[in-house]
Amino acid sequence: MADLLDLKTQNPQNAPQVDGNLLVAKSLSRLGVTHMFGVVGIPVTSVATRAVSLGIRFIAFHNEQSAGYAASAFGYLTGRPGVLLTVSAPGCVHGLAGLSNGMANTWPIVMISGSCDQKDSGRGDFQELDQIEAVRPFSKLSKKARDIKEIPDCVAQVLERAASGRPGGCYLDLPSDVLHQTLSESEAEKLLTSAAENQLQLRELSSASVNVASSEVERAVSLLREAQRPLIVFGKGAAYARAEGELKKLVETTGIPFLPTPMGKGLLPDTHELAATAARSLAIGKCDVAVIVGARLNWLLHFGEPPKWSKDVKFILVDIDKEEIELRNPEVGLVGDARKVLEIINREIKDDPFCLGSSHPWVEAISKKAKENVVKMEAQLAKDVVPFNFMTPMRIIRDAILGVGSPAPIVVSEGANTMDVGRAVLVQTEPRTRLDAGTWGTMGVGLGYCIAAAVASPDRLVVAVEGDSGFGFSAIEVETLVRYQLPVVVIVFNNGGVYGGDRRTPEEITGPHKDDPAPTSFVPGAGYHILIEAFGGKGYLVGTPEELKSALAESFAARKPAVINVTIDPYAGAESGRLQHKN
Ligand code: ADP
Ligand code: MG
Repeated sequence: MADLLDLKTQNPQNAPQVDGNLLVAKSLSRLGVTHMFGVVGIPVTSVATRAVSLGIRFIAFHNEQSAGYAASAFGYLTGRPGVLLTVSAPGCVHGLAGLSNGMANTWPIVMISGSCDQKDSGRGDFQELDQIEAVRPFSKLSKKARDIKEIPDCVAQVLERAASGRPGGCYLDLPSDVLHQTLSESEAEKLLTSAAENQLQLRELSSASVNVASSEVERAVSLLREAQRPLIVFGKGAAYARAEGELKKLVETTGIPFLPTPMGKGLLPDTHELAATAARSLAIGKCDVAVIVGARLNWLLHFGEPPKWSKDVKFILVDIDKEEIELRNPEVGLVGDARKVLEIINREIKDDPFCLGSSHPWVEAISKKAKENVVKMEAQLAKDVVPFNFMTPMRIIRDAILGVGSPAPIVVSEGANTMDVGRAVLVQTEPRTRLDAGTWGTMGVGLGYCIAAAVASPDRLVVAVEGDSGFGFSAIEVETLVRYQLPVVVIVFNNGGVYGGDRRTPEEITGPHKDDPAPTSFVPGAGYHILIEAFGGKGYLVGTPEELKSALAESFAARKPAVINVTIDPYAGAESGRLQHKN
């Protein structure tokens, strides 16, 4: 109402006017945005409500951190930037969690924040911050709309840039005075049309056909052809590129074993006979030529160096980012979209095909080792250990997830032991069905990722497998699950704290605060399942295989928000999971 009065006073002739809020919403809608994640408040509430009235789904969170994680995962899952909306200064700072997570994982995300009135900037205005400066380390491009007329083009630029080249974060700053400016409908229309044209141009530039020298492709293929122990490694960049079809072709025509990174899992099914996942150390330790597709040779792949890799291994890197290839200095570097580059490689192989075959010594060695390791792990998994260790409930969850069939559930996972054990035990059969702590090992992503997965893939069940500590970061967002009635089942491995309960030696328990709980401890037996019941969701407390099986069967069938609180022996598992050496 106040808005309408404002418009009338500024526009005595009563010509239809568009204010900044509406123009932002129109720009987003016209430029292809279908979903937004965020927290409303001064000065962006109207941006959200207008966006909704134009058909954009706005998922309202409690906290910008979770909303930002959701936006980043939405970008990964859909291939279009996830959009995060926040209020000024503190909202923007909370949102940096999502923006930076998008950058670290190379996922497209656009953060849009309101900011203080431009004329009061520098004078201590309400929620004042130099937000352009604050986002600098975490964005590829940041824009401030200094006048209403700049809005459509700024929106087009941040959206396109986030998804072009190596995907990442972009930022748009909307001062409150700009949101209240107005212009005529016809002028708005002109600006929107020109922004849409600009968007198309930017997109054409960034999606230009891949330009890899045919001599480099030939070199890559001949390295593979002559290798004694070749390996194909692929990561979440290949998943983002939707390269699964080309990867399948490459693996199956050449018979080369493959190894997915944690989020590469599922591009080819974990159950594939050429999967080297269960023989990871052998595969990376002994391969002589490795093609790495959409995965960085960073800490997760031991920097591509000895002792984990052989010192003579020759790398063929496929990455959209030229700088990434320059940094790693591989034998052959192919810059471009993973799907397109693999298509070229496959075409090159087709002219003179080769295939290792199952009796090839390398394929046999990997397959033998993988089988041995699987048998060992299955023996561990087969035991029903109560009070629960990590293995017993993980096996039950694995079987329940596999029981859902296709479309397979999206698994979200975070925690130390819970994530490590889950990565080894849970089976991925379809692409982009695993979201975890990722490149930064970010804890707190859980509920945001669940919500993004549920809205990005409405036909899939979402199952989160979380440590109690990881869950706690975003636990209040169970209310968001209930509010939107999303088909998400959150399973909390509750061992009473970070890594489990109090693991200090008696000598460490000293000093004036020795009677405080250990820094790693939470309230033992915390009732996480009751939390969701407070909002009308379904909670389960389970401590035995039968109870867990029944809770999973019921909640998977219901496809309604649920939390299953699984009591785990606080002394099961290791401190820091498998990263003990870093703590
Ligand atoms: P993982 O964690 O699975 O090992 P990383 O995040 O380390 O994966 O690496 C992903 C890589 O994929 C990044 O270097 C990024 O530049 C690259 N990438 C992103 N999109 C594409 C694409 N469409 N084609 C090829 N590479 C891509
Ligand atoms: Mg724990």
